[in-house]
Amino acid sequence: MQITLHRKKHSQIIPELYEIEERFKECPFCKSKEIRFVRSIVTTPEINVITCQKCHIGYIDRQPTETFLREFYKKYYSKDDGHTTIDPHALVNHLIRQFGKLRTKNTFSILDFGGGDGSISQLLANYLLTSNLAQQVNISNVDYNARDGEGGHSSYKIVKNNLLSFEAIPPGKKFDLVIASAILEHVKNPRETLSILLNYLEENGVFYARTPWVYPIFNALTKVGIYIDLPYPAHLFDMGNAFWNSILKTLNLSSGFYLEKSCTSLVESSFRERPLRTLIAHLLKIPSYIFKNHYHFAGGWEVIIKRRAGLKK
Ligand SMILES: [Zn+2]
Repeated sequence: MQITLHRKKHSQIIPELYEIEERFKECPFCKSKEIRFVRSIVTTPEINVITCQKCHIGYIDRQPTETFLREFYKKYYSKDDGHTTIDPHALVNHLIRQFGKLRTKNTFSILDFGGGDGSISQLLANYLLTSNLAQQVNISNVDYNARDGEGGHSSYKIVKNNLLSFEAIPPGKKFDLVIASAILEHVKNPRETLSILLNYLEENGVFYARTPWVYPIFNALTKVGIYIDLPYPAHLFDMGNAFWNSILKTLNLSSGFYLEKSCTSLVESSFRERPLRTLIAHLLKIPSYIFKNHYHFAGGWEVIIKRRAGLKK
């Protein structure tokens, strides 16, 4: 018997054959050939879920073309399909706790990659200003759909630039804080993107990333006959603790950066809006605090990486 569950959020859509790239023969992140089949998502055309034994990324072996993805995300933001995203206030409160002590700066700069309307960086900017950690905050919001939120600019001390790509950032520009919250799984080239983002950090600058890590859960459920659609093509990659714990080694960046925190991510949904989903997410995450790297069903992971000071750039 096979039970198939369809998830409302990020439902599975299979592009036409001409909109799908050739199959990856090796890990697209580290080029290793030590890869392991997890399961298929469709058989015609054959599209599979794979994990890399070396860098520990999970990926879909046939990915949509860039053209398809651009169209997909245009519709994704224009239609109101009721998909939920994290409450920005909850995430920002969580980030403030995770960052710990931030250094006081006259002008603090934030790069918000995939920030959409930039509400996360804007709320963080408000916090920095009201806590007197900064006198001015400059935000570069880089997103296919970069736009202002409903509230727009809440203070003249916040300068926000909506940018469509990294190319719009002046050469040599560095940032105190770089945020990649639930975005790296959507991009076709996470290795290049991650390297670019880390390179934008100032000395002592803080990088935050949050990614889904659901392949181990889906794999275990498949083994007991429960088949859940994967959010394809929205999610192209899956990045959990083993991937993040070895990321600086994989990118050969250990001399310039260090991993300050690597832990299970906060629960996206709220008890008020989605009580059952939220309860399950909390229950799944509890063992992660105890068993840490030996537990693989946390559903999501997050890291804080910092740039070392005093090194030549
Ligand atoms: Zn790899």
